[in-house]
Amino acid sequence: MSQPFTTIIEPFRIHSVEPLRMTTAEERSFAIEHAGFNLFNLHAEDVLIDLLTDSGTGAMSRDQWAAIQHGDESYAGSPSWFRFEAAVKELFPFRHVIPTHQGRAAERILFSVVGGPGKLVPNNTHFDTTRANVEFSGAEARDLVIPEGHDAAKIHPFKGNMDLGALETLLQERAATIPVVFLTITNNSGGGQPVSLANIRGVSEICRRYGVPFFLDACRFAENAWFIHEREEGQSQRDISDIVREIASLADGMTMSAKKDPFGNIGGWLALNDDDLAEKCRSMLILTEGFPTYGGLAGRDLEALAQGLKEAVQPDYLRYRIRSTAYLGDALDAAGVPVVKPIGGHAVYVDAKALLSHIAPLQYPGQALAVALYKAGGIRSCEIGTVMFGRQPDGTETPAAMELVRLAIPRRTYTQSHIDYVIEVVTSVAKDAASLPGYRMVQEPQALRHFTAQFEPIA
Ligand SMILES: *Cc1c(COP(=O)(O)O)cnc(C)c1O
Repeated sequence: MSQPFTTIIEPFRIHSVEPLRMTTAEERSFAIEHAGFNLFNLHAEDVLIDLLTDSGTGAMSRDQWAAIQHGDESYAGSPSWFRFEAAVKELFPFRHVIPTHQGRAAERILFSVVGGPGKLVPNNTHFDTTRANVEFSGAEARDLVIPEGHDAAKIHPFKGNMDLGALETLLQERAATIPVVFLTITNNSGGGQPVSLANIRGVSEICRRYGVPFFLDACRFAENAWFIHEREEGQSQRDISDIVREIASLADGMTMSAKKDPFGNIGGWLALNDDDLAEKCRSMLILTEGFPTYGGLAGRDLEALAQGLKEAVQPDYLRYRIRSTAYLGDALDAAGVPVVKPIGGHAVYVDAKALLSHIAPLQYPGQALAVALYKAGGIRSCEIGTVMFGRQPDGTETPAAMELVRLAIPRRTYTQSHIDYVIEVVTSVAKDAASLPGYRMVQEPQALRHFTAQFEPIA
């Protein structure tokens, strides 16, 4: 687009609005204490700007709402299913598409078939539900992101890349016990950082050499493809969908949460080429999700996703999406707030270890910051650190590699003035960071503890 203006605007206008409810500092203080200082326990109506997640929280388009009216709720062989399957295969031409109600259902089905004790699953960085599902099967989840991926301040264009040397060494030693190699694009738990096409080709080549299947955790495939388009040598002239199809061609399968890039409020799928494995996975699907032409979804959901997939790869949208996330990150960076750099696709990650260095990792600096952002300005964020990853399968608690607070940006939902407000609140809390208390966990559930744990501040 060669035009003389540099302001990147939202490539849409607002068609239907939802009210936001203003709260006082006192109300928020009461609400968060009542929630056991866990932001997942808040009533969403007590939140002003909800940056807890970009999962299922995006605004659907006019065309998606229109598509919903075409939803056909036939139990088997619904036309909505065929439209969904075609839209998935247009971008990811795997032989088998298995619809699920969300990404973790696809993970559970896959790992219950290929996982188990003695098995090992490498990934650049496992997302929390992926790790939990691998470990629930009895297998070990191993993260092999490049060393730059662990350094919050280090600039690297593709910080989500897999460490190819480490992957090759692991496969040399243990290929027989590795049922699948995973690659998460973009690398959510590692800061929403992209993986380069060269790296995806590298992982694919190594996996093929050792005869190990290669799967994508492709939740943010479109954002990842946009980064490839923008940052990788020789890619700037290609269509986004063309880049996505090449990525798919390098893999043997994928798991997907359609609540991310495809603009779904719900949905997911497992797709793969291997006929035997697909047969086993479909049996699990029927047992736990539903018939193979709807999985865990209504016909209208399938329609919304088929349309959403088309919108996800549009360049005007992706340019705005990536730029508007960077707008928040750049402003915080300029104000001296430590953030993971470069800014990722769907979220800005504040480095709570750097900002709250007076709080020990086992007193949860990320949780401390997340609670403070809520109390100060009604902003809901998400700790991605020791609360999320600290509990080990052997029962011990160890500090996570990074203590991050994620400000995830729902797709097409907030305007620039909402984000300007977020910048003001975060900057103000950061100035007083040294006064914030650490937390202790007073109630801890068995699995995925961050969702329901209860805390109290340490006096
Ligand atoms: C959201 C997400 C998942 C799990 O998907 P759900 O739909 O939330 O179950 C898996 N991997 C990554 C990278 C994700 O972001």
